[in-house]
Amino acid sequence: MPELPDVSVYIERLSARLEGRTLVGFRCPSPFLVRTFDPPMRELVGKRVLGFRRLGKRIVWRFEGELWLVLHLMIAGRLRWGTAGAPIQKKLGLAAFDFEHGTLLLTEAGTKKRASLHLVRGEAALGDFDRGGVEPLEIDLAEFREALLRENRTLKRALTDPRIFSGIGNAYSDEILFHAQLSPVQRTGQLKQEHIERLFDAVRSTLELWTTRLREEVGDGFPEKVTAFRPDMAVHGRYKQPCPVCGTSVQRIRHAENEVNYCPRCQTGGKLLADRSLSRLLKSDWPRSIDELEERQDAIAESRSPATRAVIAKGSATAKGGATAKGGATAKGGATSGEHAAKRATQAKPKAAAKGTKKPATSASPGPPKRTERAPRAALKKAPTKRGRP
Ligand SMILES: [Zn+2]
Repeated sequence: MPELPDVSVYIERLSARLEGRTLVGFRCPSPFLVRTFDPPMRELVGKRVLGFRRLGKRIVWRFEGELWLVLHLMIAGRLRWGTAGAPIQKKLGLAAFDFEHGTLLLTEAGTKKRASLHLVRGEAALGDFDRGGVEPLEIDLAEFREALLRENRTLKRALTDPRIFSGIGNAYSDEILFHAQLSPVQRTGQLKQEHIERLFDAVRSTLELWTTRLREEVGDGFPEKVTAFRPDMAVHGRYKQPCPVCGTSVQRIRHAENEVNYCPRCQTGGKLLADRSLSRLLKSDWPRSIDELEERQDAIAESRSPATRAVIAKGSATAKGGATAKGGATAKGGATSGEHAAKRATQAKPKAAAKGTKKPATSASPGPPKRTERAPRAALKKAPTKRGRP
């Protein structure tokens, strides 16, 4: 899903191309795209585009006549620039916005059509689309801290929750946590001030770095290669590939459609986070799909029953030391042995822990990889209750 850096660059290029221009036609063969019926889309035709702004991960167009068009690209929605009157592609094409000097085409790959358009009258109506998260690049450390600590969540969840932060999704949260050297399952309630400062710096530097990179890549053109997976990302989408800092194999936690990527050496003090068991333990603090979550407002908070809370509380304690394997950074033979440990950890029963036999990683700070024997299956027994930070 296009996140803050991608959406910001889209908006810059849309502004350069369309501000002050008049929409001469709107074509839309897809019956699912436009989610509002009053005012009707035809009211936009003949109106001038006054500007664009970002609202979370949405692109908002301002037209004459106090008309506001809210576009959410969701996961696979993309914009393309074509010649005037360019045809709408058969399977991919959702809509075309015609201008005299060219056509803006909206496409969406895949069978699930989730991208949406809402047309509303008056700026106040935009409030319905504002999830309430703070703008990560417009706040200071104190405001960041306040937003981050408002609820006790896993860091992955806190960063990607649009009610807490605006515009951060699955891809950049992985990158941010990597640069902050923090675990995705670290609880916000257990963060020290130095962690918060590190995270704050990582949020800013990561989002700014990528916005600049994407802007330079696009230049005067139009963003054609918008993707959540970029070869120069450190960990996101790089499962099994070497961490750019320490060379350890990047690991993952899979949950429904999402995959969290992290470096077990740089971020979790050498611990491998057990995949299936962890996502089960975190089920209520982990969206089934971060992207789908955008569509259901506050569903997680509301659906959380007292019984589920108990599971989460238990889960967080176990996640610290229990549902982890120390194989990753400690395994001998380099990067790939970590994967074996990951597999063992996943095969193990939910609460079991795979323990390294020789030198367990006691420090959470990154250091040179420790070499130990491979964890025997017999070691998959007891879960230590408390250990350093996750
Ligand atoms: Zn690393």
